[in-house]
Amino acid sequence: MAEQSLQRVVVVGASLAGLRACETLRASGFEGDVVLIGAEPEPPYDRPPLSKKLLAGEWEPDRIQLRSLESVEGLRLDLRLGVAATSLDTQSRVIALEGGAVVAYDALVIATGATPRRLPGQPELRGVTQLRTLADALDLRTRLLGEGLRRVTVIGAGFIGLEVAATARQAGCVVTVLEGAPAPLIRGLGAELGTAVAGVHARHGVEIRCGVQVVGIEGSGGAVTGVRLGDGEVVVSDVVVVGVGVAPATDWLEGSELTLADGIVCDSSLWSGVPGVYAAGDCARWHNRLFDPHDDAVMRVEHWTNAAEQGAAAAASLLAVSRGEAPPAYESVPFFWSDQFDSRIQFVGRAHGDDEIHVIAGDPNGAFAAMFGWQGRLRGVVGVNMPKLVMPFRALLAARATWDEALARAATLG
Ligand SMILES: Cc1cc2nc3c(=O)[nH]c(=O)nc-3n(C[C@H](O)[C@H](O)[C@H](O)COP(=O)(O)OP(=O)(O)OC[C@H]3O[C@@H](n4cnc5c(N)ncnc54)[C@H](O)[C@@H]3O)c2cc1C
Repeated sequence: MAEQSLQRVVVVGASLAGLRACETLRASGFEGDVVLIGAEPEPPYDRPPLSKKLLAGEWEPDRIQLRSLESVEGLRLDLRLGVAATSLDTQSRVIALEGGAVVAYDALVIATGATPRRLPGQPELRGVTQLRTLADALDLRTRLLGEGLRRVTVIGAGFIGLEVAATARQAGCVVTVLEGAPAPLIRGLGAELGTAVAGVHARHGVEIRCGVQVVGIEGSGGAVTGVRLGDGEVVVSDVVVVGVGVAPATDWLEGSELTLADGIVCDSSLWSGVPGVYAAGDCARWHNRLFDPHDDAVMRVEHWTNAAEQGAAAAASLLAVSRGEAPPAYESVPFFWSDQFDSRIQFVGRAHGDDEIHVIAGDPNGAFAAMFGWQGRLRGVVGVNMPKLVMPFRALLAARATWDEALARAATLG
């Protein structure tokens, strides 16, 4: 059904997904107003280097701009940076901003990403940090690259926590990672392969302690001194990085008509079910029809490629609806990478801790590639320093390959 005439599109969230939405609108010939609203003061920048080369001091902030200033100017945006959207009224199609301004829209793309979770009762102490923004990264970098003994404790052995651990270790810090589960990355890779990744860290001198319970962060004189564990031990720390995952940045949408359930719930075209409102990137939970009917197909993905593709897809959907056409479904096999020491981990598809695992090639104690299977289907493929063995499986996953088909393909590659 055609939307009312489309004169102004508002995009909230001036990062990867939001910028791609704006670019797609212009590349598709949309000549109306495009308003891009972002809470951070910086023009759109890339987050993956925040835990890697920027944190290591190898890159400066100008190196991580997603687009040059000229390219952004060429999009003819009404760019409002350093101001957060505070509420959404879908009846009158108006967004309220910090400071009291309001912005009306004909169509809206919400691309507000995610924010780091905090520990229960987490205190405000110097040296306790999280890592999501450029400001976070520059603050943490100052602490990691300082002089003298720097004891860094990372709480949470997820991908970002492990990347920070690797960068801190390479900067000469004494690094401990605390994880409640029996192995790092257990939800994503399972215990066996998670333990293999832990081995990479151990070989480089990072202490990874699994199965420990963090009960509090302690400080003195306003600065952190350590992390208290369930058995009473205190891990003495000069810097504590809390890396316990992220939550979609949707607080400002509470009370709107949107359905929020660990993300903005959308259909296969990234439409929220409310006229004119679409979502993209880390904040969107959408129906990925590629995973029907053999897996839980309504998913939220926190990876770069997904955010980039979904920003473009949400813009394409809203334009199609404005023309009275059926919006295209966004169907995709999730993909991400992670760099830790000299290991590049790549992952396509999905995995659960209890999936069947088949090692395609190599040895989990070094470079390897492995497949994850579930109920006779291929569900995902991971590789460590094996790029040529991972990417061919993206097409196989898109074709909903069975486990046997995947094994046959693996036999030709391994
Ligand atoms: C340190 C780090 C390393 C990473 N490394 C990798 C990697 O190696 N590989 C990989 O695949 N992925 C990686 N990722 C994940 C990837 O960067 C994200 O998936 C991607 O940035 C998501 O893009 P997005 O546009 O959806 O959201 P975000 O990048 O989170 O951007 C959302 C923007 O919206 C703004 N915003 C939030 N609320 C409001 C509001 N109310 N009003 C206005 N603006 C608002 C935020 O300030 C932010 O600028 C990494 C992420 C981090 C933090």
